[in-house]
Amino acid sequence: MSPEEFRRYGHQAVDWIAEYLANPGRYPVVPPLKPGQLVDALPACGPEQGEPMEKILADFERLIVPASTHWNHPGFLAYFANSSPPEAILGELLAAALNGNGMLWKTSPAVTELEQVALGWLRRWSGLPDDWFGTIHDTASTSTLHAILAARHAADPETRTRGASRGLTAYASEQAHLSPEKGALALGFGQEYVRRVPVDSEFRMRADALGEMIERDLAAGLRPCCVTATVGTTSTTSVDPVPAIADICGRHGIWLHVDAAYAGAAAIVPEFRWAIAGCERADSFVTNPHKWMLTPMDCSVFYTRRPDVLRAALSATGVYLPAPEGPRTLNFMDYCIPMGRRFRALKLWFVLRAYGREGIVDMIREHVRLAQEFARRVDASDRFELAAPVPFSVVCFRYKGSDEDNRRILERVNASGDIFISGTVLNGKYTLHLAVGNYQTTGRHIGRAWELIDAAV
Ligand code: PLP
Repeated sequence: MSPEEFRRYGHQAVDWIAEYLANPGRYPVVPPLKPGQLVDALPACGPEQGEPMEKILADFERLIVPASTHWNHPGFLAYFANSSPPEAILGELLAAALNGNGMLWKTSPAVTELEQVALGWLRRWSGLPDDWFGTIHDTASTSTLHAILAARHAADPETRTRGASRGLTAYASEQAHLSPEKGALALGFGQEYVRRVPVDSEFRMRADALGEMIERDLAAGLRPCCVTATVGTTSTTSVDPVPAIADICGRHGIWLHVDAAYAGAAAIVPEFRWAIAGCERADSFVTNPHKWMLTPMDCSVFYTRRPDVLRAALSATGVYLPAPEGPRTLNFMDYCIPMGRRFRALKLWFVLRAYGREGIVDMIREHVRLAQEFARRVDASDRFELAAPVPFSVVCFRYKGSDEDNRRILERVNASGDIFISGTVLNGKYTLHLAVGNYQTTGRHIGRAWELIDAAV
């Protein structure tokens, strides 16, 4: 493609994005698509000769867009809703142009250094310890995998040379995301050694139960290795009692990892800083700007106060790609499983600069206000009830009927194409889950959601 052609098609693509973001609500949030429909609409083999860009862009609009669930739709209120504003999209576009690979400092000083700068800003805005080491991964699942890997090395450094030994145990609450369990499984702990700690009536890990489990495991000759506490659980956004959990981990020398994938963003807002109380005592911490901080997939921030352990577990520069490392020439590949690392910091830096701390604070406050407004409607209705406290921007609620009734409501609401909510199970009951997290969601969308839900009974 010549520079002139690139200019033409580039403008065309940017024009399309501008139109799209001006009104993503014109599409159904979830496409009315049958599984396999897109596969069937596309050729089984790629083209022998390159095709013209007109045709590729036309097929993007004709086939790909209609097969997309629109996370940028302001009526997307499912899971942890999020969005990619134009500022972040520009960062992503330019990152692709530079095609930087931050495996070593010298393979792209900008990737390595901007990552440190952006994560330093985020750390300070969030009130996290200033000496924490940060890296960006694709997802919280990868960040947590690195936490458990470091925990395993701290508990059993011989793992590096002799492989994993039996009896290392990992802990997370019954309400924790699957990622701590998957991470432990991937690292060879074995399912029998992954503990799910019971929760209290507000879905927070019971520290007393954790303490007892650890005592029991120690008495049985096992080696408790890693506890994952969650700040903002996946279903209800409950916050585990991190200070009490940190006491237990400190007493037994167990690695404490905090999964703040969603609610970590709220730490920027002074009145939500309580959520990360005690996290300064953690060994590692993950927060996902791609969940509630305006950054497109994917961008997960991993902090640790013990990068030396991570490096001891993962560094391979002695045998491969020997590269000097000094105080200012960090080689991120020594702290990560992947060697190649894309320039995720650029879009994050664009967001942090374009919105500023206050812009992000305002957005989070507004999302919480909208969620509280919705929760008040639920509370005021005699047909619905809240199923969990609402500390942030997620509301879990139920129609006072059967699981079937609630499932039917979900299906009817989502079939509208205007609103997309999700479901979960709490205390054995099917529950509806509404999450505000998109920068274009307003009171109008929350009002429409309530209208559809109320009418779907
Ligand atoms: N942790 C929590 C609390 C989550 O809710 C999620 C996903 O929703 C994850 C981790 C996994 O995030 P990712 O999709 O970035 O792996």
